[in-house]
Amino acid sequence: MKTSQIPFRTLREAPAEAIIASHQLMMRADLIRKLGNGLYTYMPLGLKAYRKVEGIIKDELNKSGALEFKPTVIVPGEIWKESGRWETMGPQMLKAKNRGDQDMVVSPTAEEAYTAICRAGLTSYKQLPINMYQINTKYRDEIRPRYGVMRGREFNMMDGYTLNANDESLDESYQGYAKAYHRIFKRLGLKVIPVKADTGAMGGSGSEEFMVESPVGDDTLILCPKCGYAANVEKASCRPDPALDDSGKPQAKTDLPFEEVATPNVFSIEDMEKFFGTTSKRFVKALIYRVINSSLDLTGTAGADKLKRVKEGDFEFYPVSYVCVLIRGDLDVNEAKLAGLLKASEVCLADDEEVVAMSGAPHGFVGPVKLNCPIVQDLSVNDMHDAFAGAGKEGFHIKHVEPGRDFTAWKNADVRTVKSGDKCCCEGCDGEYYTTKGNELGHIFKLGKKYTQSMGVTYLDENGKAAVPTMGCYGIGVDRVLASIIESFHDDKGIQWPMSVAPFQVAIVPIKYKDAMKDAADKLYDELTAAGIEVLLDDRDERPGVKFNDMDLLGFPVRITVGDKNLPNVEVKIRNQAEASLVPLTEAGAKVADIVRSALAELNAV
Ligand code: ATP
Ligand code: MG
Repeated sequence: MKTSQIPFRTLREAPAEAIIASHQLMMRADLIRKLGNGLYTYMPLGLKAYRKVEGIIKDELNKSGALEFKPTVIVPGEIWKESGRWETMGPQMLKAKNRGDQDMVVSPTAEEAYTAICRAGLTSYKQLPINMYQINTKYRDEIRPRYGVMRGREFNMMDGYTLNANDESLDESYQGYAKAYHRIFKRLGLKVIPVKADTGAMGGSGSEEFMVESPVGDDTLILCPKCGYAANVEKASCRPDPALDDSGKPQAKTDLPFEEVATPNVFSIEDMEKFFGTTSKRFVKALIYRVINSSLDLTGTAGADKLKRVKEGDFEFYPVSYVCVLIRGDLDVNEAKLAGLLKASEVCLADDEEVVAMSGAPHGFVGPVKLNCPIVQDLSVNDMHDAFAGAGKEGFHIKHVEPGRDFTAWKNADVRTVKSGDKCCCEGCDGEYYTTKGNELGHIFKLGKKYTQSMGVTYLDENGKAAVPTMGCYGIGVDRVLASIIESFHDDKGIQWPMSVAPFQVAIVPIKYKDAMKDAADKLYDELTAAGIEVLLDDRDERPGVKFNDMDLLGFPVRITVGDKNLPNVEVKIRNQAEASLVPLTEAGAKVADIVRSALAELNAV
């Protein structure tokens, strides 16, 4: 193809709202144009790269045995009501009514569609597993779409789903996707870190996210340099460290009863450290959380009689409930872990009024004693002794607090946020964690029976008995992958595409597209095209500097410059190398074809 055939314009400056490299470069190189907030159009050159990413994903999934299908993007609201997510998905989901006043959904994901489709034809265990994927448009009304296509509102996802007869079969499907993902990311040139991930309220049994390290990542990864443990901070746990006193010794038990101390101006942990002249490790921090849609049974716990429990089909839950989390003063609560423990869709700190209602004291004076609210005690509190805490009364704290004696927990669990420097939780490992930022490119998830049960999917097993299949789901964000490739491969001049994704593998730039230079450029173009190489010939009547800058910005892996000063030699330059080399015109085609093929072979090697 020739540049004159492509309607593109490059920009010197990216729009001010583009703050990360991939967004800036995609806008400057005219790969995408913005239509609305979180809505981007792929222009022809951008779409070529996008299709290559898609092609590699499809190729590897097809090889793994998954089959492509294509549900509609607009689906009946009915199936979302069946699964219960019509209510729980929240404002992320774009809903509409059709002319018949029926509820419709613009798919944010497709568990419901897949489940409804499979349910229709399923009779026997012999049909399982069913493994299908699509690459299709999704819409999520993200509150803060940002970073261009990295977090858009409309985006494209590969989403695969498996329906399995049992856990072994589900594990096989899950491992099949994990293997295909490794090959996909390898071929795209990306280094990914699979991390253990939160399974959330869905209560699935296994989940891994495929992360790429990135300073602009939305996720925090916890990594152990010794044993390779890797987890999203939402999921990570660590070895509990002993509660120490000010001299570094384990805290010692006291027989003194707890005692109130007037602390009128002491609100924060820092205030407490100053007032009591000790470290935060000796404080029991008490935080009241509002809990949304918890399905744990709270019957018999403090304050439970005032809560409303709701039944929807087989599912019973509390739309709103409260817990008080106790944690050592130097640590923070991990809300994802807390929500998982409580089988809740969400938890958040209670507001001032709720805090007073639950604890009898305003924020800053909440304490564990005589609470009218169930206590979730983090493991860090278990070996604390002679501690300090809020008194549950405005203007007072208490000292000589003994956990177990002065209060008892409803749940004792690990809900702390793991930090860099914490000890690895793996058996026999004494590594210390470090953290890094990451962006989630893909996800594999053992869902279990959440959808098959709520949507009534059954089949006859080997014994002729009705059974409910189990399910897995698997996703890759195609646009986010494309943007991440640019994040990983660029310099100050522009993009440096890996050979497998480049919109064109080779750019031919004649200094002027006429006379001998035109003949040589055309000859090379024909030769390389015939060899199956994707070539762009820059036939524009522009100054050479403009053409070089544009080709560097667009990031084609190999550039051949044809200038009359060098003929019968041409200059071959690899985009990510500083030096160019002169090659006789007669040899250039074969040499460049070789460069392209060996780069592809390296990326494709397992
Ligand atoms: P995130 O935590 O980043 O919002 P998610 O957990 O909501 O992601 P999934 O529902 O697992 O994402 O979707 C699968 C993949 O789709 C993600 O791994 C990501 O690559 C991609 N993705 C999700 N939301 C967006 C978005 N708004 N824009 C672009 N890609 C997205
Ligand atoms: Mg999301």
